[in-house]
Amino acid sequence: MASYPLIVGPPASLRKPLKVPDRLLLGPGPSNIAPRIMAAGNLPMIGHMHDEMYQIMDEIKDGIRYAFQTHNQLTMVISGSGHAAMEAALFNVVEPGESVLVGVNGLWGQRIAEIAERMGAKVHQMVKAPGEYYTLKDVEKGLTQHKPVLLFLTHGESTSGIMQPLDGYGDLCHKHNCLLLVDSVASLGGAPIYMDKQGIDILYSGSQKALNSPPGTAPISFSERARNKFLNRKTKPVSFYFDLKNLANFWGCDNSPRMYHHTTPVIGLMGLRESLAILAEEGLEESWRKHREVTNYLYERLQKLGLQLFVKEIPFLTMNAVPSG
Ligand code: PMP
Repeated sequence: MASYPLIVGPPASLRKPLKVPDRLLLGPGPSNIAPRIMAAGNLPMIGHMHDEMYQIMDEIKDGIRYAFQTHNQLTMVISGSGHAAMEAALFNVVEPGESVLVGVNGLWGQRIAEIAERMGAKVHQMVKAPGEYYTLKDVEKGLTQHKPVLLFLTHGESTSGIMQPLDGYGDLCHKHNCLLLVDSVASLGGAPIYMDKQGIDILYSGSQKALNSPPGTAPISFSERARNKFLNRKTKPVSFYFDLKNLANFWGCDNSPRMYHHTTPVIGLMGLRESLAILAEEGLEESWRKHREVTNYLYERLQKLGLQLFVKEIPFLTMNAVPSG
């Protein structure tokens, strides 16, 4: 075998000790991590296919079902950030050429539209000014006009601060033979969401916001309707990594022996398990109440400073209007 002199030496930048400041994080994620979740980052490494890891994954699924308020069997975590869940959702339930209706009232609708377009869907955008949400009437008009297989809405729009109401949207979509996909990356744990009761077919979130975990794991759940849409596909999903069939098997959702698919972020999952455990111990209602209370306090103090809120609806993410000058 040939041997060559190394042309790139060990970088001087890596000979310095790693330095990380202790920062108070008040932006829309990542957020500061609770000591118990930090401690999970120090646990021993185990294999992604060890029985103990499968047990942790099962506990995570229980925690997601609680946080999402769903009984869906197809509940799991995507190895990746919120964007990975966005792609996993679209790639599995939409086929190239199918019509997708996207609520675009901020960045997240724009991103979903872009991903759907890249995978060959026919994208119809319902564009609204940042800070506005979609009424049932808006949605009915879009469903009737475009006959989509999927509607996308963002629950907590972190680029404008608006919160999308969700009661009645699932039923409306189902009347039009359409699935409802909702982004709760910024809102899960911060404001009420009821996946089954609200008829949401695919719901995803992220680990690094109100769940206070490190970034890099994204809870997701698929309804029976979404599962049937997947099972009736004519084409394979464009992504192997995000293929629901493989993921469902690895996450123990299909009653078959688990097979290797990819190496999951073991330590990140342990952190997520702990954040879901904290949420379960505290209780969802208490978590929502706490976020509401802190927000009201912040509103009050901001107003005393003479600052105006951009929108008022969202109880976990506060946007100020920029004062003139
Ligand atoms: N959706 C919303 C509402 C978000 O706030 C974010 C992150 N800011 C994302 C999706 C994307 O998540 P990530 O950055 O973890 O990929």
